[in-house]
Formats: sequence, structure tokens, C-alpha cells
Amino acid sequence: MTTLVWFRQDLRLTDNPALDAAYDRGGPVVPVYILEQSDRAGPRRPGGAALWWLDQSLVALSADLAALGSRLILCQGNPQDVLPALARTTGADAVYWNRRYEVGAIAVDRAIKADLTDSGLEVRSFNASLLFEPWTILTRAGDPYRVYTPFWRACRARADLPAPTGRVAGLPAPARWPAGEERTAWALSPTKPDWAGGLRAAWTPGEAGAQRRLHAFLDHAIRTYRSRRDIPADDGTSRLSPHLHWGEIGPRQVWAAVQMKQAAGAYDGCADDVEVFLKELVWREFSYHLLYHFPQLPEQNLNRRFAELPWHDDEGALKAWQQGRTGYPIVDAGMRQLYETGWMHNRVRMVVASFLTKHLLIHWRHGEAWFWDTLVDADLASNSASWQWVAGCGADAAPFFRIFNPTLQGRKFDPSGDYVRRWVPELSKLGADHVHEPAKAPDATLKAAGVRLGIDYPRPLIEHQVARKRALDAYDIVKQAA
Ligand code: FAD
Repeated sequence: MTTLVWFRQDLRLTDNPALDAAYDRGGPVVPVYILEQSDRAGPRRPGGAALWWLDQSLVALSADLAALGSRLILCQGNPQDVLPALARTTGADAVYWNRRYEVGAIAVDRAIKADLTDSGLEVRSFNASLLFEPWTILTRAGDPYRVYTPFWRACRARADLPAPTGRVAGLPAPARWPAGEERTAWALSPTKPDWAGGLRAAWTPGEAGAQRRLHAFLDHAIRTYRSRRDIPADDGTSRLSPHLHWGEIGPRQVWAAVQMKQAAGAYDGCADDVEVFLKELVWREFSYHLLYHFPQLPEQNLNRRFAELPWHDDEGALKAWQQGRTGYPIVDAGMRQLYETGWMHNRVRMVVASFLTKHLLIHWRHGEAWFWDTLVDADLASNSASWQWVAGCGADAAPFFRIFNPTLQGRKFDPSGDYVRRWVPELSKLGADHVHEPAKAPDATLKAAGVRLGIDYPRPLIEHQVARKRALDAYDIVKQAA
């Protein structure tokens, strides 16, 4: 009686229902990770930064399994071929996994389940990555939610959140391990050139790294989360997003850890901060809800009227945005933080996404694709839902006509200018009064700070008022189409 456990976006040993069930079943357990082919309709292949993360996370998971006397078997190919072959060589009679929610992945999983079941294997799947399954939260009419606040209320009212489980005590090994591939042969991390130095400096992928992040956050920043989470120069948020994406920690573990500390009185006096944090976790849940119920979310505007919006095809402007050379310091700081560390602060994500879609009128799909390739937390649900939210075409979205002024956003959320100075070093000698708008600084100030506009730092790609009017004119076409 041998069980294969197919790891996917659940790279952890605690609170892993598929692994727990395999252990409870008794008999040997064979953990496997499959690097899936990208040339077929399946899950979207991770981008460059995410592949670096995956590489490191597989190292951590392998070491954690080894400590339990087990191994992670690595295979590459179509899981529909790999899993039956592995079942044959190990004599496994069951395959367990935790569910995924992207339409391509669901199709793959369904087909494999049917094949394996037909061959007489027991197949079971579980929920490791969401608080609640997307099909269990519905409006009174039985429809999916399209508005966040009632969705949040529905989640908050649920009393059936299962308690997270601990680490299995040990994993019985099979009599003979199947041959696996070498992780290094997959070349998931960049070498020529090795652009991952900033990622290595910023992150510790793996379950232990996730737990450390969680506890550091729960001991400190959560207490001031409401007021500090919007200040990009502060370390005011959890930075759990890549760990959650790869399932190195599950949202139920985060939720339960918060509640345990709350019950012990650790958050007396800051209950509002804690509640705002839980609400953010539920934004992730809402994104998965949307992806599951509206599977076209990564490609199509949820609001169909936006098909009429006359997007611009401007390679030069897109490149300037990607490289952090738009002439708007808060935008450029965000894009450079992203490129260097694989992560960007949420407030700045909103500003740069608004700038791309409204100031430059470039389709949100180009922004989504760039984020997909550069974020370590690139997540099909959260990324596509958030891009559509900012662009105004998503569910419960920010209205298109609400166009951020990037200079005012910079002054409001980075009043000291520390964030911009950190990521745009050519402006590091400008004071708070000019760092968000170098183009309007007096010549003498620029000279003293060593900034030559158009040489050391670009002039704004487009003037704010001009961009605003152009965007509103474009939006008129959408309104007329209504
Ligand atoms: P915290 O503030 O500590 O929040 C805790 C957790 O809640 C996060 O780790 C995340 O899992 C979840 N969360 C918080 N805010 C959101 C949100 N608005 N939507 C969904 N989940 C949220 N998040 C991703 O995980 N992957 C993405 O690919 C992604 N792309 C985005 C693209 C755009 C244009 C925007 C505006 C936002 C995007 N987000 C994405 C959401 C959000 O910016 C990040 O989740 C957050 O910045 C991660 O930092 P944190 O872990 O410190 O968050």
C-alpha cells in the first residue's frame, strides 16, 4: 500500500492535507514534484523570478523531507504520463494532491484523475491553499460574488475553518526509491547572467523562511498595520506573498496564528490593525474566487465594455516603464524595486499599474505579463484580478476615471522621499520637497544634487494633466459603448 503525494503549490510539510492523508493511510509515501511542460494547455509556466523561487523552495522541501527519512522525487514532463509511470515503478495504489484553481490546471488534474481511477488507483484531492473552497462561498441567490465587501462578510461569518495540522512525525520510505531527475539539470535559476543576487539578498524561500516571516510580522508590524501598510519605505507589511503563493505556508496557518495571539491578549489595543490584515488575506481569497468562477480573468476584461478602450501600442513607453525610467520618481522606484528584489510594495503596485494603464494607455495585459515574469509572488489569481482592478475593468474595480497623480501619491505615501532615494539613487541628493518632482526643481537645486534632467534622470514621459485628459477622452468611448 504505497501512496504518491504530488506536490505543486503546497511546498510545505505542516498543514498539508494531502501529505497528512497519505501518512494516515499507512504504508510507504513517495513525494514527487513534476516540472510540467509549457507547450500545452495546462497551468501557465512560472516567470523567471518565480522559477528562481521554485528552485530554492525545492531545495528546502527536499532537505525537510530528508529530515523525516524521506525524499523528493523530481520529474519533468506531462503529469499524465509521469504519474502512471511512477505508480508502476513504485507499486503505488493511490495518488494524493492538493487542489489548484486555474482553468488549465483544473483540466489537467481532472484528466489525470480519470486516467488513474480507470487504472484502479485511489485518487484524492484536498484544499491546502485557500481558507474556503471557491464554490462554497456564494451569494444568497447561489451566484459567485463580484463585490469584495459582502464576500469578506461571508468569509468572516464562517465558523468552519479547520484548524491547521502540525508536521507529520516521519514518512515511511518505499522499499526502493524510483529514479528522479537532478534539480540542477533543470537550470531554474539564472546563471548567464546571474541576475538573482537581489532576490537572494531579500528572501529565504522554503517553509522555515515562511514561518520566520510570519512570526516576525506577528510580533511587530501587525500592531501598526493599518497606518503603516501604505508607506513603502517602512517594513509595515508581512511580505508573506511569495511564501503563500508557493504554499510554503497556508492561509489557514496565518489566520490561526493571528487568532491564537489575539486570544492570548497580544493584540489588545490594536484589534483594528489585525482586522485590516485579515481583510487583505481575504483579498487573496477573493482573487481565487474570481479566477475559479470567471476562468477567463487572466486574458479578458471582466467588464466587457472595456473591449472598446483604444489602448496604445507604444513599445518605447512600455520599455521605459519596465526599466523604471518614466520620469515619475515613485513609479520608477517601484519598477526598480521589482526588478531588483522580485517584489513591490502594494501601494506602489497600484501607482505603477495606474500609470501604465491610464497615463500611458497601455493594455493591462502587458503590465500583467511583466509582473508575471519579474515578481517572486507572481500569482495568476492575484495578479490578473489586481491588474483588472486597477485598470477599472475588473470586479468591484477602482473606477477608470479615478486617475492617480503619481507626484501626489509620492508626496502622500513617501513624504520623506526615503523610498524614492533608496531605489532611484540618481535622485539621492534631492530633499523631500523636490524628490517627487525633479522636473520642477530649480536649476540650482538640481545642480547641487548632481541631477541633469534628460541625462542622469529622464524628464516625465508625459505631463500629468495631458495624460489625464487623454485617458478620460479614451474612457468616453467606453462609456458611449455602454
Ligand atoms: P500584506 O499586506 O502583508 O498582506 C498579507 C497577504 O494578503 C499577502 O501576502 C497576500 O497574499 C494577500 N494580499 C494582500 N493584498 C492583496 C491584494 N490586493 N490582492 C490579493 N491578495 C492580497 N499579490 C500576489 O500575491 N501576487 C501577485 O501577482 C500580485 N500582483 C499584483 C498586481 C497589482 C497590479 C497589484 C495592485 C497588486 C498585486 N498583488 C499581488 C497584491 C498585493 O500587492 C500583494 O499581495 C502584496 O503587496 C504582498 O505583500 P505582503 O505579503 O507584504 O502583503
